[in-house]
Amino acid sequence: MSNTGYITEDTIVALATSSGTNGAIAVIRVSGQNAIKITNEIFKGKNLLQQASHTIHFGTIRDGEEIIDEVLVSLFVAPNSYTRENSVEISTHNSKYIIERVVNLLIKKGARAARPGEFTLRAFLNGGMDLSQAEAVADLIASNSAASHQVAMQQMRGGFSNQLKSLREDLIHFASLIELELDFSEEDVEFANRDQLKNLINKIQVIVQKLVQSFEQGNVLKNGVPVVIAGKPNVGKSTLLNAFLNEERAIVSDIAGTTRDTIEDEINIHGVTFRFIDTAGIRETADVIEAKGVERTREKMKQARLIIYLFDPTQDKVEEVQAQLPEIERLQIPFVTIINKSDLLSEAQKEVYNVLNPLYISAKEQIGVEELKDELINRVHLGNLNTDDVMVTNIRHVEALQKTADSLERVIYGIDNPVTSDFLAMDIRQALYHLGEITGSVSTDDLLDNIFSKFCIGK
Ligand code: GDP
Repeated sequence: MSNTGYITEDTIVALATSSGTNGAIAVIRVSGQNAIKITNEIFKGKNLLQQASHTIHFGTIRDGEEIIDEVLVSLFVAPNSYTRENSVEISTHNSKYIIERVVNLLIKKGARAARPGEFTLRAFLNGGMDLSQAEAVADLIASNSAASHQVAMQQMRGGFSNQLKSLREDLIHFASLIELELDFSEEDVEFANRDQLKNLINKIQVIVQKLVQSFEQGNVLKNGVPVVIAGKPNVGKSTLLNAFLNEERAIVSDIAGTTRDTIEDEINIHGVTFRFIDTAGIRETADVIEAKGVERTREKMKQARLIIYLFDPTQDKVEEVQAQLPEIERLQIPFVTIINKSDLLSEAQKEVYNVLNPLYISAKEQIGVEELKDELINRVHLGNLNTDDVMVTNIRHVEALQKTADSLERVIYGIDNPVTSDFLAMDIRQALYHLGEITGSVSTDDLLDNIFSKFCIGK
């Protein structure tokens, strides 16, 4: 592993809580060899250098004689901390002014401002967690639904890494046997039983393929199901979207201080997030059959995993609706046929549309909206999802897994079409390399920079 670019001897500091104005308390995190010593220099209370790990101490932070704040200091002595280094968490009152003063004081005493994700990077470099677990920390913080929370938590606790680790160990065993053969190449010996190797590789392939396949679902759980509401102008698309979102906002606004921006176009149904694509342009997604708009509409709809197709029975007769359906079917994306404005239909009028097997709703009167939600869950097959299954949610991981699968395929080819042991060894090493990329057993500074720079400062 080449992580020489990182120096972890110095002590870093950052605000770990949100920098917003909401909330009574802020937590400032300090980590590094001198974390406790530096904090002790500005803290008046017990001598922190003489306290046990995992203890909390009340006192004041002072700049000379000036009292900046009354605080609680939590101590974590290496290696029993998140970063595996000496760490301190200072809980102050949540004032921008106080936080700035405390952080600046710590910097004056020898700490430096942490870079984005640097606490978690240190946890990784110091062996506290592997790379996929570190990435799951970011996912966990970003999780906004029961499902995304569950997959992130599962990954952070190592479910996915453990499985890969034992596969890698088995494979390393074979790689070393084959490399041993290279040392005896004149004697034409086979230390590695080819049948056993093939069995192992087939076993690994099954698991790797299952992980690759889990990505589609894992990704949806993490990022939400992309949905498009489509239909001609005035069928009620905006009204339906508002019906969804207003209910969601009513729920969310009960939680004080919730960031509203992030949920603008999302709704949460039974723990799964549905994300509406380009809702601002919803009016433009109208008119699938009109030649002009068709291409653009189609492009937008292709991003969806699910289409809610609305019809207005006061405008379109059943034959006209039927004429539009092949165009939608051609997209090969699951869609739900909706007859909107059902409040304007008599039972007899409704019956005419039954041939379409639609859902009848009234977006305006909020009739049938709950049934529509249930239908959305049914259609994406996430209803009785077992999130205990190991699931891949990260594009970097799925790419590495695909490369692993390719290398393994070459190994199988090599066994079936006898190639020399050195080629076989090379392909196995390649597979090991890609498996190792996921957990970080092999990593480069570029890769680490790329991953951790996306974190917030303080994580
Ligand atoms: P869009 O162009 O597809 O977004 O359609 P809108 O949501 O703007 O709705 C067009 C018109 O239909 C508006 O006047 C809505 O109030 C009305 N509308 C939408 N849904 C319903 C419904 O379920 N019942 C009735 N009666 N009117 C509706």
